[in-house]
Amino acid sequence: MERPPERQAIRGVELVSVSKLYANGQRAVDRVSLTIDPGRLLVLVGPSGCGKSSVLRMIAGLEDISEGEIRIGDRVVNDLPPKERDVAMVFQNYALYPHMTVFENMAFALTMKKRPRAEVESTVRDTAAMLGLEEKLERRPRELSGGERQRVALGRAMVRRPQVFLFDEPLSNLDARLRVQMRGEIHRLHRRLGATMIYVTHDQVEAMTLGEQIAVLEGGVLQQMADPQTLYHRPANRFVAGFIGSPSMNFVAASVGTDGRVTIEGGEPFVPEAAPAGLAGHRGRAVTLGMRPEDLAPAANGAGVRLEAAVDVREPLGNEVLIYWNTAAGALTSRMAGAGPSVGERVSLHVPFDRLYWFDAGSGAAIV
Ligand code: ADP
Repeated sequence: MERPPERQAIRGVELVSVSKLYANGQRAVDRVSLTIDPGRLLVLVGPSGCGKSSVLRMIAGLEDISEGEIRIGDRVVNDLPPKERDVAMVFQNYALYPHMTVFENMAFALTMKKRPRAEVESTVRDTAAMLGLEEKLERRPRELSGGERQRVALGRAMVRRPQVFLFDEPLSNLDARLRVQMRGEIHRLHRRLGATMIYVTHDQVEAMTLGEQIAVLEGGVLQQMADPQTLYHRPANRFVAGFIGSPSMNFVAASVGTDGRVTIEGGEPFVPEAAPAGLAGHRGRAVTLGMRPEDLAPAANGAGVRLEAAVDVREPLGNEVLIYWNTAAGALTSRMAGAGPSVGERVSLHVPFDRLYWFDAGSGAAIV
């Protein structure tokens, strides 16, 4: 009897200065370098059009690599056809074969490879058990819910036992509750399979909840790759600071005097405590101050930045409330517990010095 293929050591993925230039000359991916260690899950996140799918499709072999090198394990795969790369991709459009049962859909890749019947049977049944699909194996896709169909699509990738799973916005078609549930399942699968996974999404919440490591892309350029805590608390630049976190970080224009004092538009000069060392190099220059909505609250005293503000709009969320403020420095948002102030109320807003984020006004780079 033929034995199932041996499971090889798990492989990681490495991109070395990878670019994608499409026929129109557009540089959709611009010299991206990153390493995904074997067995890790990397989330690639960024707004629509930032180049996420292009990166994924180059790894899968569905797009040529214009510049640079992609390695899976110790093999350079630039010139390998997709089927020799040992990767499986799960798409947003799961495109199951409508005339086949769940079993047949999941078995398809193995049947094509002419694996022995007993192996196909046991692999599909084991995989279905992992995904809670045992009872659905004889159904056709139209007899399944959206979440079940997405699980079949996952199963179809899993039975191939690939070295690397690539997910391209696989949950976008699902409603909010199912997305949360499927995220949990992907988490569990990742732990259980121990395979290397790359997961693309435009949704920063999804990225934060799934990612051990998150790579933020914008304009085809890798902005920062880090764990969720680091991205949130130590963003590399203004783009990452504004992209990660909901509601977004507030930004106000400020200038640093030659004496080191800082002035926010419409405010009094202040001497910042706990300022980053790099701020000394910005004397006489414009900077951008960042403030997270949860750090911005009415307070009568305490060391920090103060802004006079009036409530413009309130959005109660039950356990907390979002307040949109008008200030001389522009519109600001805060997120606070309880009911918060009423529309029109005027308060003195406060942010502790150690909660300020500082950015170069020109480049947007974080000042550290
Ligand atoms: P994302 O997945 O982040 O939405 P994509 O990788 O799909 O971004 O696209 C990145 C950029 O490349 C976009 O500006 C897109 O319009 C462009 N692009 C994608 N595919 C092609 C193509 N086949 N030909 C030309 N331009 C493309």
